[in-house]
Amino acid sequence: MHVADVIVSGGGPTGTMLAAELRLHGVDVLVLERDPAPNPAVRSLGLHPRSIEILDQRGLLERFLENGQQYPGVGGGLAGIVPPRPVQLDSAHGYILGIPQPVTDRLLAERAAELGAEIRRGESLTGLEQDDDGVTVELSDGTALRSHWLVGCDGGRSRVRTLAGIGFPGEAATTEWLLGEVAVTASPEEVAAVSEEVRKTHRGFGIGPAGDGLFRAVVPAASVAEDRTVPPALEEFRAQLLAYAGTDFGLHSARSLTRFTDATRLAERYRQGRVFLAGDAAHVHPPLGGQGLNLGIQDAFNLGWKLAAAVDGWAPEGLLDSYGAERRPVAEEVLTLTRAQSVLLQPEPGPQAVRRLLTELVEFDDVARFLAERISGLGIRYDLGGGGDADAAPGLVGTRLRDLPLAQGRLYERLHEGRGTLLDPSGSLSVAGWADRVDHLVETIPAPEAPAVLLRPDGYVAWAGDEQRALELSLARWFGAAGA
Ligand SMILES: Cc1cc2nc3c(=O)[nH]c(=O)nc-3n(C[C@H](O)[C@H](O)[C@H](O)COP(=O)(O)OP(=O)(O)OC[C@H]3O[C@@H](n4cnc5c(N)ncnc54)[C@H](O)[C@@H]3O)c2cc1C
Repeated sequence: MHVADVIVSGGGPTGTMLAAELRLHGVDVLVLERDPAPNPAVRSLGLHPRSIEILDQRGLLERFLENGQQYPGVGGGLAGIVPPRPVQLDSAHGYILGIPQPVTDRLLAERAAELGAEIRRGESLTGLEQDDDGVTVELSDGTALRSHWLVGCDGGRSRVRTLAGIGFPGEAATTEWLLGEVAVTASPEEVAAVSEEVRKTHRGFGIGPAGDGLFRAVVPAASVAEDRTVPPALEEFRAQLLAYAGTDFGLHSARSLTRFTDATRLAERYRQGRVFLAGDAAHVHPPLGGQGLNLGIQDAFNLGWKLAAAVDGWAPEGLLDSYGAERRPVAEEVLTLTRAQSVLLQPEPGPQAVRRLLTELVEFDDVARFLAERISGLGIRYDLGGGGDADAAPGLVGTRLRDLPLAQGRLYERLHEGRGTLLDPSGSLSVAGWADRVDHLVETIPAPEAPAVLLRPDGYVAWAGDEQRALELSLARWFGAAGA
């Protein structure tokens, strides 16, 4: 009955990104996707710099740039509080890439399929049981499938999370919004004028062009729906537009209608035996600051090579657990950001006073930079403990390395295969014993931060220094035993 090394439940952006990462390492992966057709709703509108860097590290950036639009000004995501000057980020990609979620979803699914992942649509996971050797999953038609590992990328109402018995504590929804891509008879000028007026008093309202002559509208719902799996009806949308804007703009049809809330929850743990959670299955929060899809892609990028190592048989002790240890704190930080923004959007005098104070604080370059690095994902620093010569590389271990020009090409071009990389300017070090998993680049680094750095397959610095013995300890820690 064995069907795959890894079954991924959910073919959204997290699931397909993970499938592609696993295929990069030859892992036999099956993606089960409940919906027979792709979700047309434009939820996410864009990608932040760290996600853009990840696409570059896998050779995917060109196809995303062709389908998106670059916007400068990272750091304006904090409930609309923008720094007065653009923050110069230490990245070749210090911009937001505007790209509608259905396009992102399509490009990631195409990439997974190109690399050989099987994506089965219209297949819903309904049950799971795990033992020492693997996981048996049950589908809605009663079929049973078996794999060594299962990853729940099945969204905020994750069935995998529930079946694995992983708690999802946090705050229940207090407010719900309706989101639609709609056709109206009002002119773009009329729509813009009304929208600007309404937003002075209702920051939760917005309507603007969405391409193809349609408008994207967000409006608070009358209450939190009991069954949020049922999309709103056009009449409900019309009633809320009338209630908030005093007009329905001549609304007459919709390409997509959906609802979302401010529920904020974080999985108690990201792993239960042979079952993992990633993306919205592990964390939900209101979409303020556009973080969720970015977080999911980055979860998948962190987990992919580690799970592949386990399938391949060389994963060192603790590697799989490092996924939750590294990614759960990142989600906690995002939840802090979205909780803070929810408060900053409230009209009461207290939150508005904090808003005014923060607006003044972002005038300070350090504050603006701190926020921009947090929102962009560039400031992530995994706590890897030790890992090198602190004097040679203060603060470098656990951070991602920006792209660098090399004697031939550039660093991110050399990371496309998802292998480990030793950047060794002096050429005095060796990866003998690990050469099947780690590339050795003898390269003069234009702006040397350390004598040499060892990068993991996800581009984070595992070690920095110049001693062979210390390097070998780090190689064994992240890439398993020599010659394995
Ligand atoms: C209004 C709005 C705006 C947003 N804007 C942004 C933004 O600008 N930037 C950003 O980064 N994020 C944004 N987000 C968040 C983003 O949409 C989500 O975080 C992202 O879609 C999560 O991806 P995922 O793959 O983890 O989950 P999902 O996209 O929810 O995908 C889960 C998949 O699992 C499938 N599934 C569910 N149950 C099963 C089952 N039992 N068996 C098999 N398959 C199953 C579903 O059909 C679905 O395809 C926004 C969200 C909303 C609501």
